[in-house]
Amino acid sequence: MDIIQFITAGNALFTLENTATGNRFTFRVRQPGDDKPHFVSVLTGADNESDYTFLGTIFDGLRYRHGRRSPIAPTAPSARAFDWLVRRLSQNAHLPEVVRVCHCGKCGRCGRTLTVPESVDTGFGPECAKLLKGVE
Ligand SMILES: [Zn+2]
Repeated sequence: MDIIQFITAGNALFTLENTATGNRFTFRVRQPGDDKPHFVSVLTGADNESDYTFLGTIFDGLRYRHGRRSPIAPTAPSARAFDWLVRRLSQNAHLPEVVRVCHCGKCGRCGRTLTVPESVDTGFGPECAKLLKGVE
């Protein structure tokens, strides 16, 4: 899957994992409208449907800024991990072998559950994949 395309598709839910340390975080990146920035939150509780805490914002050109209104410190591991990921992606740098980004079985654009095998590979359902191709 194309990680940048996935995390900026509008309704992305994914885990970032360091398989060497076992550290993992689940992030949600939502864009409320085409001309709006992307809002990032991180899973901070047991309920993976609702327990998200605002972390920061991704602006055009993949510039990430930690939110001043976030209750999470910019130095917290989840905040540093997300900042690192976006910085890395914006530099077109490859992620280290030990780092994995996995979608959570839901389409990155509309959030519906992925069922078709090729959708599971790309992170997008058939309808959204078509729309995304139209945009490129
Ligand atoms: Zn979709």
